[in-house]
Amino acid sequence: MATFVELSTKAKMPIVGLGTWKSPPGQVKEAVKAAIDAGYRHIDCAYVYKNENEVGEAIQEKIKEKAVKREDLFIVSKLWPTFFERKLLRDAFKKTLTDLKLEYLDLYLIHFPVGLQPGKEIFPKDEKGNILAGKFTFLDAWVVLEELVDEGLVKALGVSNFNHFQIEQILNKPGLKHKPVTNQVECHPYLTQEKLIQYCHSKGISVTAYSPLGSPDRPWAKPEDPSLLDDPKIKAIAEKHKKTTAQVLIRFQVQRNVIVIPKSVTPARIKENFQVFDFKLSDEEMATILSFNRNWRACHVNHASHLEGYPFHAEY
Ligand code: NAP
Repeated sequence: MATFVELSTKAKMPIVGLGTWKSPPGQVKEAVKAAIDAGYRHIDCAYVYKNENEVGEAIQEKIKEKAVKREDLFIVSKLWPTFFERKLLRDAFKKTLTDLKLEYLDLYLIHFPVGLQPGKEIFPKDEKGNILAGKFTFLDAWVVLEELVDEGLVKALGVSNFNHFQIEQILNKPGLKHKPVTNQVECHPYLTQEKLIQYCHSKGISVTAYSPLGSPDRPWAKPEDPSLLDDPKIKAIAEKHKKTTAQVLIRFQVQRNVIVIPKSVTPARIKENFQVFDFKLSDEEMATILSFNRNWRACHVNHASHLEGYPFHAEY
């Protein structure tokens, strides 16, 4: 069974969770059910993945058939930054909670730190195609998110894609009631995030690694992009342990005490990605994997890079 990371709230967050971005409706329900059967207790969701309704159906079915209890699950969702204004935030949260068919979330994250203009579009643009910033900031949103915690609708709050200056802004916010418990960021051997992880851990904030396999199914992937799953050096380490490359990529995070959320809709891979608790990478192998860093991002969100607060200009 999976191990956990203890959050600053004392809640235990399962260190391996199932990612659901790009998991198509029609497949994501079976994927979540297969994950729960395989022992996963942590599911990573988001409003913008447009599949929370089906994720919710899978969770409901598994609870109904007594395969799992709600309190043993750790369900995460994310607030999209077009919804930083109070009423919009409340509505977006309600939609997520209703779609997931839950009474509370274990963790609610701010998906991206830059407030965007409200509207139907995920990335609202002007007529020239430039993304439009909104009036409300993540600090405005944080106050409303804290109310959700106080009302018992959310057990803990966190952030995603924040650099350390932005986390510092939350920690220094006058009257802060609830600290972020995790920062969910892209993290894998080509983007090892050592400084950001060290910073977060020093503040009692856990780190969750997204795109841990390099997100090969990201829609903007180019054939010339580097591929973690085909990296011969990582493959060689995997062969030594009689494990797959994916298992080494996941184990690498577990061993650094970083929570990790590989996505798959393939039942055999879902199982495989959870079988990472029966082997150990040596200190030398960990150091070798860290040396593969090249600060390469699968999810760069380049089309927002002109906006104030774009998080990835900072070193960490
Ligand atoms: P990922 O988990 O790095 O990679 C997913 C891809 O790897 C899929 O194509 C999957 O294929 C394939 N795969 C999974 N297991 C495999 C295995 N054992 N062997 C070979 N291929 C395998 O990518 P990701 O979806 O970008 O990241 C994971 C999760 O992190 C997301 O789903 C989402 O929940 C979260 N995330 C969050 C943010 C954010 O901004 N906060 C951004 C990106 C991702 P199949 O599904 O076809 O099996």
